[in-house]
Amino acid sequence: MKVDMDSENLDHQQEEFAQILKANKLKITQPRLRVLDTISTKTAAISQPELEKILGSEIDRVTLYRILASFEEKGILHKVFDLNGTATYALCSTKCTEHHHHDQHVHFICSVCNSVFCLDETNVPKINLPKGFSLQSIAVNAVGLCNQCTEK
Ligand SMILES: [Zn+2]
Ligand SMILES: [Zn+2]
Ligand SMILES: [Zn+2]
Repeated sequence: MKVDMDSENLDHQQEEFAQILKANKLKITQPRLRVLDTISTKTAAISQPELEKILGSEIDRVTLYRILASFEEKGILHKVFDLNGTATYALCSTKCTEHHHHDQHVHFICSVCNSVFCLDETNVPKINLPKGFSLQSIAVNAVGLCNQCTEK
């Protein structure tokens, strides 16, 4: 029997990712779905080298780089720097749109495992700027031990 590999074969989760791509006018491709799938299964933000370890056999490095760049531009992912200054990526809230991120939350970084977590419920403080200054981005990090590292 011939197996149809069209959209009917996408499971519920994949269907949701396909919708995200569609809403952002990105073509639905397997690598893009795989990246979204991988990031969504992690509670912590994930760096490009970590993604390469997981997806390296399926997606080449240049493609992965482009996917992350386009997702960030479209407001699907936001970038957070960990304690080593390595960029990690986390899924955006649905409020984010192309070139307009609204991820105004604090990030928690574990000082032992260097994992980055979005604290969606904790907003960054309002910044009062001196006259003549303009704001481009705010990064507020709380540093401490994550639950995994506390248990050890
Ligand atoms: Zn965002
Ligand atoms: Zn930790
Ligand atoms: Zn975040």
